[in-house]
Amino acid sequence: MILFNDINKWYGDYQALTSVSAEVKKGEVVVVCGPSGSGKSTLIRTVNRLEEIQSGQLLFNGHDIHAPMSSVELNRLRSRIGFVFQSFNLFPHLSVLDNIVLSPLRVLGVKRSDAKERAMALLERVGLPHKASAFPAQLSGGQQQRVAIARALAMEPPAMLFDEPTSALDPEMVGEVLAVMRGLANDGMTMMCVTHEMNFARDVADRVWFMDAGQILEKAEPETFFRSPQHPRTQRFLSDLR
Ligand code: ATP
Ligand code: MG
Repeated sequence: MILFNDINKWYGDYQALTSVSAEVKKGEVVVVCGPSGSGKSTLIRTVNRLEEIQSGQLLFNGHDIHAPMSSVELNRLRSRIGFVFQSFNLFPHLSVLDNIVLSPLRVLGVKRSDAKERAMALLERVGLPHKASAFPAQLSGGQQQRVAIARALAMEPPAMLFDEPTSALDPEMVGEVLAVMRGLANDGMTMMCVTHEMNFARDVADRVWFMDAGQILEKAEPETFFRSPQHPRTQRFLSDLR
């Protein structure tokens, strides 16, 4: 579903991604981990073209994401790839429900009554049906992040990307967001998640990718990754966590 083919990216003369080739298959959950500055955010942001690449090819469901396209086409493509960031980015002046229905109404042209019905079902799914008419500022960080997930799901994306969705949260709120992500994974959603939550990686991921200095040094199933990491850099990373 997401295919990285020999991707190279520079910020000026700093090479942030070097020869990255990897695939997230349909229905797979991939956790991307690695030290700060290793290129995790850069990599995940190339998928909806928040970052440009200088060489290589990136296919999303067979579409060349980095091919020349109009800004209309690009916006349409972006709206179909669910992206959840560290910061929640909800529209502060809109209620929870209106945050969720906005894109389906504007971009997909869904009827308001249908969009609302679906938004309520999504709020149910993230455990917040009672917050439909609240405003973002009236919610905890964990609740805001769950609304952000519901909002992304409202576009019925074939895949969801997460860049450290829990790292801005107070510790007691991390679990509720991870539980929603676990639910999505169990329902078969294709997911690429940058996270430092190694228990989540162990329990939920199908594959773990370890990045260092702009390269993916290791890709493995979680059991192998945690029990017998191959690369010395991975071994050091994991032992530093303990
Ligand atoms: P963290 O765990 O801290 O979020 P990361 O693995 O997500 O780190 P990136 O944010 O992808 O790392 O950054 C990779 C490298 O690219 C870093 O050295 C960073 O300083 C550099 N970098 C990131 N964004 C830019 C930018 N806009 N301009 C220049 N350099 C950048
Ligand atoms: Mg990052």
